[in-house]
Amino acid sequence: MKTFQPDPQSWQPIQALLASGLPQAMLAVGESGSLLRLHLDALQAATLCFKPTDEGFACEQCRSCKLLAEGSHPDLWVAAPEPGKQIAIDTLRQAMEWIQYTPQVSNSRWLRIDNAEAMTVAAANAILKTLEEPPTRAHVVLHSEQASRLLPTIRSRLQRIPLPEMQMVQSIHWLQQQGVDAENSGTLLRQLGNRPLRALELWEAGWLEQRQQWMRSLLDLSGQGVVATLKLAEQWSKSSDLFLIREMVLNVLADFMRLRQGLLDRIADLDYLEELRLKAPDISAEALQSNLDGWLQLPLTLSQNSNGMMVMEKLLLDWLKLWPRRKTHGIQN
Ligand SMILES: [Zn+2]
Repeated sequence: MKTFQPDPQSWQPIQALLASGLPQAMLAVGESGSLLRLHLDALQAATLCFKPTDEGFACEQCRSCKLLAEGSHPDLWVAAPEPGKQIAIDTLRQAMEWIQYTPQVSNSRWLRIDNAEAMTVAAANAILKTLEEPPTRAHVVLHSEQASRLLPTIRSRLQRIPLPEMQMVQSIHWLQQQGVDAENSGTLLRQLGNRPLRALELWEAGWLEQRQQWMRSLLDLSGQGVVATLKLAEQWSKSSDLFLIREMVLNVLADFMRLRQGLLDRIADLDYLEELRLKAPDISAEALQSNLDGWLQLPLTLSQNSNGMMVMEKLLLDWLKLWPRRKTHGIQN
């Protein structure tokens, strides 16, 4: 990935903050997988840098900048949960101890806690004291998707940083700079929301081709029978990408909803618009709602039911009920 340079104009509030003295306990709010992460990286680099530019960017030449580029800066600690897990107290206890020491290379130590809402209550309580009285040469930044999910005692000790917000066009532009073509950039971001980092990651993993297969299987189901449905349920229930399948199905269901309401400008699956348009009119509104509920609640259902295949069978059999007046046997033209 090329080094990310924020837009100088939108960086001005940060530049002013750097000049007047950055707060020690900070909050950055934004979706994970959005360009917020790269903006945070830029702020972190500028703070640790020996000679930041007048515009508030890291010099990319000094020892600190080189260590950051190598991923071995001794004054940086990033704590993040493993996917789907919480941040445990032990992880943060170590970080709280680490941050008390004098910086080794730069002027300050920088601790970042990603997905901070994933801290257990015990973990959150373990950092309270440090947030209240940070060591003199230290910065702590909590990154959160939803600040409202942080404990109020944590939130009240943090100052929110005015990081630039990226518009969709800027995200598309950034994706293209990384080598994704214009059409795919648009498709990815419509599917995933304004999260270009996530889009790039999935694009590199071949997700677009995978999605075509999943879409085909899903959309063809309505013309097929129960046997084909159960077969797909078996396949999907074993997939390690089940959460991505869920996102895709939710997008399709939401698109059906939008088509019925005439909200054409918000369609996520633009590349399947014609097909979805043909299918939308016959859909039962009641079944559409219950399908949406079922897929939304999937993580909860799976946590309560160890038989993933049975859960998926129910979801896909419910999918067939979207078209109550259609025959579900044999192939339809
Ligand atoms: Zn530097």
